Amino acid sequence: MGQAPPLLRRKEWPICLVILLLAAALFLLTALPHGQTAVVRIDGEKTHTLPLNQEQTLTVNAHGHTLTIQVRQGAVGVRESDCPDGICRNTPPITRQGQSIVCLPMACSITVEGAAEYDAVTY
Ligand SMILES: [Zn+2]
Repeated sequence: MGQAPPLLRRKEWPICLVILLLAAALFLLTALPHGQTAVVRIDGEKTHTLPLNQEQTLTVNAHGHTLTIQVRQGAVGVRESDCPDGICRNTPPITRQGQSIVCLPMACSITVEGAAEYDAVTY
């Protein structure tokens, strides 16, 4: 296959180091639980998927009620709701995979789900 280039020339070392560092950083970023998402379901139907590493507010309407979901600092919670029982409103924000907030009057649930590779680590 032609002439193999020398493995590494001396002046290429810094570049190689940078690539290695970038690769390490990328690995660390993907290894951290950044793949977690909050899945919103209404009547059992998945309506929204919110990445937990992205701060945002989402308003959903169902069964005559309005619910405001907030993603903040890696947690998802119900900020406002006009449902009669207010259980969802009183549920503290959730961060861990498998946790969920349920609003019965709205038939709405918010569940933290992780990236596939985290299924083995988190339960
Ligand atoms: Zn509720």
